[in-house]
Amino acid sequence: MKKEFVCISCPVGCRLTVWQDEKSAVQVEGNTCPRGKTYGVQEFTAPVRTVTSSVPVSHGAQRMCSVKTDAPVPKARIPEVLRAIRGASLRAPVAVGDCVVENVAGTGANVVATRRVTEKKR
Ligand code: SF4
Repeated sequence: MKKEFVCISCPVGCRLTVWQDEKSAVQVEGNTCPRGKTYGVQEFTAPVRTVTSSVPVSHGAQRMCSVKTDAPVPKARIPEVLRAIRGASLRAPVAVGDCVVENVAGTGANVVATRRVTEKKR
């Protein structure tokens, strides 16, 4: 079965058609560079995404801190990843890159802070 994707590896956004031939080789059409082929094969066989969210911060100048996975995780595991993030919190001060959840949902990726949060002034 053929599937259509838009390559998100760069802003051009080439339209890809991806299918598996009789020899079980994944074929990609519509890409204008090798990154598109890699993206099309990945998206067809085992799609992954970087997950972004936010977690509450105690004693911080801001109440929330944006976070993301430091590597893409399998698309099917995103609900588990979001559940783990929902259960997490930070205490100020927070630096960019601070680990929020290690090996989130057993994916091998860590959830890390993507903004700095200073301590609240008294
Ligand atoms: S195939 Fe290449 S040029 Fe086209 S969107 Fe993907 S990365 Fe960009």
